[in-house]
Amino acid sequence: QRKLVVLTGASSGLGLSTLKALQKKKGYFVVCAVRDVAKMQRVVKEEGLDAGALTIMKLELGNLKSVRDFVQNLRAFKLTRPLDYLICNAAVYLPKDPQARFTDDGIEQSLGINHVGHFLLARLLIDDLKAASDPRCVIVGSITGNTNTIGGGLVYPRADLGDLEGLRSAAAGQKYVEMADGKGFFGAKAYKDSKVCNMMTMYELHARYHASTGINFASMYPGCIADTPLFREKRQWFRTLFPLFMKYVTGGYVSEEEAGERLAQCVTDPACKKSGIYWSWNGNAQQVGVKKNFWDPPSGAGGSGGEIFENQVSDEVRNREKSRLMWEYTSKLVGLQ
Ligand code: NDP
Repeated sequence: QRKLVVLTGASSGLGLSTLKALQKKKGYFVVCAVRDVAKMQRVVKEEGLDAGALTIMKLELGNLKSVRDFVQNLRAFKLTRPLDYLICNAAVYLPKDPQARFTDDGIEQSLGINHVGHFLLARLLIDDLKAASDPRCVIVGSITGNTNTIGGGLVYPRADLGDLEGLRSAAAGQKYVEMADGKGFFGAKAYKDSKVCNMMTMYELHARYHASTGINFASMYPGCIADTPLFREKRQWFRTLFPLFMKYVTGGYVSEEEAGERLAQCVTDPACKKSGIYWSWNGNAQQVGVKKNFWDPPSGAGGSGGEIFENQVSDEVRNREKSRLMWEYTSKLVGLQ
């Protein structure tokens, strides 16, 4: 029987290349969880994908009711079959917005879509995953949320959840909170903060559910896929020069195809049957990672080629006190204990 995979954001960039990688490997049936069903239908046709190995389901991560509806629809579709793999990949990056945009539930979009929607999705699907023989849940992280790297530590602004005042107020029912730290909107930082929440969520899921359910939770940094539509909000000069800079100066560039193979590897490779891990590849990136000691592996490696390794996240991501608060506030926000 084919393994059943839920993949968010399958209609573009890394999600689409992961779908292609899974189709190439065979043996997987992918539920494409997308905000725009018509776009996904077009993509399936245009890319010549195997429609017999996928189904398309609506998932608007910026609407908590849509997340709950998606879970109901998924259950009606798969009936009593377990879910083998959940890949939380979708995201928005809104660095140019002068003002915050909000989800249908009144949460700033980077936080609401990248973190809160996926948080609810992952928690609701734990029961569906735990019945599988090798259940895995991968939440895509990023170097940019890790302040122990050049990409995340030296490139302004740095991720910083502060004391989570924004998330706390949102959990208490306040609408239109602009940042997790409770400060004024700053798009580039909102994205980085959301990625910190993504990686923290993975560690919390691991701590709370791995032993009792057998689900392996992981996060990963795919490398800098500098030409995906994630950068659609950036100016044209940036979109032209950034891939060249990442390719020829830092060496951190990874093609969409390779990044998709990497994300697919997290669920298909027996070597990735581990929990509480942040995966990266020690490709040809130079200077992307800052090492605390010269013998440490590069902490934010990337670049094309290389082998998968267990990377280290920043101290903030591993701050258990903070991540407990993140868990408590986000749970309240989505209506769970
Ligand atoms: P893309 O913009 O190409 O893909 C993002 C996907 O998310 C799209 O399919 C988009 O749908 C979907 N999406 C956006 N908003 C919503 C929503 N409200 N509900 C449901 N789905 C939504 O970006 P990438 O492929 O580059 O990014 C994928 C992941 O990789 C993200 O988690 C990102 O943080 C991470 N990442 C990317 C890096 C890079 O260099 N590109 C580096 C490190 C991490 P639609 O197709 O309709 O637009």
